Amino acid sequence: MTRLSAVLLLALTLVTVPWTSSAEPETATAAAAASVSATRIRADVEFLADDLLEGREAATRGYELAARYAAAALKSAGYEPGADDSSYFQQVPLLESTRTEAALRLTIGGTTTDMPMPGQAILGPSAVHASVDVTAPVVFAGFGVTAPEFAYDDYGGIDVKGKIVALLFNAPARLPSEPRAYYASTDHKLKNAADHGAVAVITLLGPDDVKRFPWEQLKTLFGRPTLTWLDADDSPVPSEKRLQATAYVSPEGSARLFAGAPITFEEAVEAGRKSASRGAALEATLTMRSRTSHQRASSPNVVGVLRGSDPRLAATSVVLTAHLDHTGVLPPGSGDRINNGAYDNATGSAILLEVARVLAARPVRPKRSVLVVLVTAEEKGLLGSDYFAHHPVKVAGRIVANVNLDMPVFLTASTDIVAFGAENSTLGEVVRKAVAEVGYTLSPDPMPEENIFVRSDQYSFVKRGVPAVYLVPGFTAEDPAVNGQQVFGGFLASHYHRPSDDLSLPMDLKAVERFSRANLAIVQTIANDPVDPAWKPGNFFGKMFARSN
Ligand SMILES: [Zn+2]
Repeated sequence: MTRLSAVLLLALTLVTVPWTSSAEPETATAAAAASVSATRIRADVEFLADDLLEGREAATRGYELAARYAAAALKSAGYEPGADDSSYFQQVPLLESTRTEAALRLTIGGTTTDMPMPGQAILGPSAVHASVDVTAPVVFAGFGVTAPEFAYDDYGGIDVKGKIVALLFNAPARLPSEPRAYYASTDHKLKNAADHGAVAVITLLGPDDVKRFPWEQLKTLFGRPTLTWLDADDSPVPSEKRLQATAYVSPEGSARLFAGAPITFEEAVEAGRKSASRGAALEATLTMRSRTSHQRASSPNVVGVLRGSDPRLAATSVVLTAHLDHTGVLPPGSGDRINNGAYDNATGSAILLEVARVLAARPVRPKRSVLVVLVTAEEKGLLGSDYFAHHPVKVAGRIVANVNLDMPVFLTASTDIVAFGAENSTLGEVVRKAVAEVGYTLSPDPMPEENIFVRSDQYSFVKRGVPAVYLVPGFTAEDPAVNGQQVFGGFLASHYHRPSDDLSLPMDLKAVERFSRANLAIVQTIANDPVDPAWKPGNFFGKMFARSN
């Protein structure tokens, strides 16, 4: 028997509760079926991260295999199909944009030179414009952030109408963590640039940025198509139609842009470090030229529903998400090219499937409906979840909360959990109590500079006004000799989005089980609480994205 069928059979059989005539063994079997099994989770991870699935890239055959597997697991666990066409697959209409030509030319003091790609810059394909030819002066506009509630504006005193704006990566460090995450998002930065009349945006990576996102790694994105989802009127989302082009520039390329300018790139970066806004018109004029070909595609979110047991609350739902996709196969070269995404996010998907099984196997169903959604194209920019949040399936009713899992890493066992976004809503208290039941403590965001709250699928729900949390194991290692933060940092540096995020990495199954039980406790609490989760009064996200449904 091949590994594929063996694993599939295991997943299908373990959730079946055998019929017995004696009450006692039946209770014991029911209890076993209704508790979390790290072995089943590991089995699912082994299937999803198998080379056979070729890195589960959205809109590829490998992803389809993963989607069929997840749907089979949901069906056998007793979930009804959740998509509007009564299948488990909510098809997300996608637009693939492939750059066929690209050039960047820099003119300073009458001298024009090429900016080599991808050596110094990456000009992406455009989802909107098949053909781009822009020549405009470059204006440095700090982070490109306008945050009136924090009295911060990078556009104060500079004129960018008809210009190309050059922006620092991220947002001022003096903003609190979560508003900072919002203002650092491309959503805000592109819209804000367009609102101020800019024609294009280039993002400058400084020395600190490339420590976290090595240019060598970013370069591998060059030449890869991008994806957006398509709205009913065929317009690509997300996109800022008013902008002609967007590009990334390496530290080396950025330094060239500032030649002859009133400030150097070093000074611009330094001002950014101090959260000081220091915009300036540069001497540079940039020509951005690209040609893009477009192709339609589609890839499904896998959706199953467990109907609520309470007649009134069943019309509301808690949406549980984990992204099933990963980054696929690297272009031809030497060595292993398959990004298996064992931790990112085969593990989160497998935990979600197990939590779903256990919820359905318990004698009493949750009062609210529970939607299990394994989303597609997270790695392309949260597309599957964004589509779902804009076009929720009918059985979702009114969505009261989202609980997301993405890349929980179990290289070591920890004593704490981090719930990104917990402090924004009443979900914080729910999470604190639920994790305590399992013996965890709840820790604050250990890496606010990473803007994690806006970097996974929960953010798609937050933007639609739905309170959400995103759970990961914390950094406090059970073993006092181990530095949990260092272990995670090591994963980010060596394995994140690389072929080595695969099944050869260690996985502490006890930690997996405990984390999954915490997740289950959180979901059960929310799904049984007749009071809707709510944003805290005056909360930044609650105000920014007042409920749209
Ligand atoms: Zn990822």
